This record gives sequence, structure tokens and C-alpha cells, in this order.
Amino acid sequence: MTDLLPLIDKLERAHSLSREEYEILISGRNNETASLLRERALRLRRQVYGNTVYVRGLIEISSYCKNDCYYCGLRAGNQKAQRYRLTPEEILSCCREGWELGFRTFVLQGGEDPWFTDQVLCPLLVRIKTEFPDCAVTLSLGERGEASFQRLRDAGADRYLLRHETASRAHYEKLHPPRMSYDNRMECLRQLRGIGYQVGLGFMVGSPFQTAADLAADLKFVEEFRPAMCGIGPFIPHHDTPFGDRPGGSVELTCYLLSILRLIQPNLLLPATTALGTLDPLGREKGIQAGANVVMPNLSPVGVRKKYMLYDNKICTGEESAQCRGYLSARMASIGYEVVTDRGDPK
Ligand code: SAM
Ligand code: SF4
Repeated sequence: MTDLLPLIDKLERAHSLSREEYEILISGRNNETASLLRERALRLRRQVYGNTVYVRGLIEISSYCKNDCYYCGLRAGNQKAQRYRLTPEEILSCCREGWELGFRTFVLQGGEDPWFTDQVLCPLLVRIKTEFPDCAVTLSLGERGEASFQRLRDAGADRYLLRHETASRAHYEKLHPPRMSYDNRMECLRQLRGIGYQVGLGFMVGSPFQTAADLAADLKFVEEFRPAMCGIGPFIPHHDTPFGDRPGGSVELTCYLLSILRLIQPNLLLPATTALGTLDPLGREKGIQAGANVVMPNLSPVGVRKKYMLYDNKICTGEESAQCRGYLSARMASIGYEVVTDRGDPK
């Protein structure tokens, strides 16, 4: 039996470890620890969510971004990126199509595009919530001011996804240019929670300069913040960014961390991300089998999908799309899970 067993027992019992203990669990991992953690994570997942998988329709509303995160293909400095933005009418028609396909959550995601002011977004949110009162709307539009977060919430947004990216300040500063601020990112997350959003945070696995200690800090941060959702996916390089020649993260470590996160917070919404599906054709299934319980297929208009290229080879035009929901359901059924038509709130 692995010598990490006492730590795994403790995590399962207390849903908490010290930073040092998380680091040991990460650095000392092997196949045996991975399967032990997976088994326990799945047991817990089954108790809370049964065999259900929640789906969200992801609408990528803009590929314009004023920020310059070193890892992202949409960064302002990438002059080769193809830019587009959807009109409110186009976004609404994605929602209509999604509703017909059985989606009850729409995620509006995009770069930090100043065109999407509150004056544009609030009436759009009102229209979506009026037309689809049984649906939840998630925003993932980066950092905005507290007053803006409040206005968007008042207009009907239910959830906000803002990955913290890394809970280590020194690491954050290696991933972002000086004018982006770790403190502001963290402050935004506190504001969102204070306003009453269901908050999603998260981080990339295997991002440049990341150490086991950084990941341990991420896990401790999630444990203490208690978000509704935590999105993690492997870092994948984009050739037109400063990190274009860096190695990417792994499916193996991402799945290992998904199992740990499930044990930290049994009701956490954990997506099996597109990045997992990009690195491995069975990546999303592996994520679900490690403890994830959410999948976010792409609902964006087919014509713009290739322009939302966060990283190289991002899957976007095939079976992962929302239009292939039947196929997704069949794939999930083949591993014993059921995709449900539901808003997918945390239990
Ligand atoms: N602009 C918003 C923001 O940054 O919060 C939302 C959109 S952004 C593209 C969504 C997420 O994509 C980021 O939080 C980041 O973790 C992830 N991402 C960006 N570049 C990536 C890459 N090269 N590999 C994997 N994930 C990446
Ligand atoms: Fe912009 Fe988000 Fe990409 Fe950073 S991660 S460059 S904020 S789209």
C-alpha cells in the first residue's frame, strides 16, 4: 500500500490538508495513489450527484481582448489572431438553438472586450432570462468593476467564471505582464461572491514555471474559498504567444487533481474541460472518471469557432460541439453516466 494512504484517508475524512500535505500528495503520486484517489472521489461524487453529468452550452461571444496574458492565443499582442464579436441577436439565437438541444445553462465567455459594456450586456441578459426563465446564465468575461458585476447580476446573471489562474503571486507575475494584477484578480473573486453570484474559479495545470508548491497553493485556495465551480485544464501552448515553445500540461496530472478537488469539496462543480478533450480524444471521459461532473460543449456559431483559438489544435468543429449532444450522451452512457437536462446548480 502506498505511503500516501494516511494523507488520502485524512483528506477523505476532513476534506482538508495543509499546503505541505497537498504538495506531498502531488509530488509523491504514482499509479497506485491515482487509482485510490479516483475510487474515493467517485464514491463521493456518486453520493452527491449520482451518475448525472451536467452540461452547459458555451457561447464564445468575442475573440477581442485588451489583456496580454502570456499563455493565451487571444492576447492583444497576438496580431495574427482572428477577431470577431457576436451581436446580441446572434447570442440569442445560440441560446434558442441550445435550449432546443436540452441546455439549461448558457455560458457567455469572451476576451476582455470593451465593446461589451454593461449597456450592451444588461438588456441582453434581460432578454435571455425573459425568453428562457428556466435557464441559468453564466458570464466569463474577465475582470470588471464591482459596480459592473452588480449591474450584470441585477440584470439576471446567475454565475461568474473567473479562473484565479494561480494562487501564487510570484507565479501569477510570471504568467502576466506587469499591468495585470494578482490582487485585482483576487479582489474580483471576493466581490463576485459578495454580490451573490455562484462563483467559479480555477487554474491551468502545467502552466509555465508552475511547481508542485504552486498547485498545492491552488488546492488550499479552493478549499478555503469554497467556490461553486472549479475549472481546471491542462495548459496547451499557442504558437503565436510568448509561451509557444513551452511544454503543455498533462491529462494524467489534471485527472489526479480533479480527484483531489472532489475530495476537498464533495459538491463542487467540476468540468471535464475542452483542453482535456484537446490533448486526448478520451480526455473528457477520463475527467468524468476521475471525479468531474460537468461538460461544456460549444454552442458558438460554427463560422467563428476557429477564431476562438486559445491554444493550438483546440477542438471546436467536431463531436465536442453542442449540436452533437446525442453523441456526447452516448459516450457518457458508455462509461455509466447520464447527461441530464437541468440548470445544474451545486447540490
Ligand atoms: N477572458 C476571460 C478570462 O481570462 O477570465 C475568459 C476567457 S479566457 C480565454 C478563459 C480561460 O482560458 C482562462 O481563464 C485560462 O485559464 C484559459 N486559457 C487561456 N489560454 C490557455 C492555454 N494556452 N491553455 C489552456 N488554457 C488556457
Ligand atoms: Fe484575454 Fe482571458 Fe486570454 Fe487573458 S486569458 S488574454 S484575459 S481572453
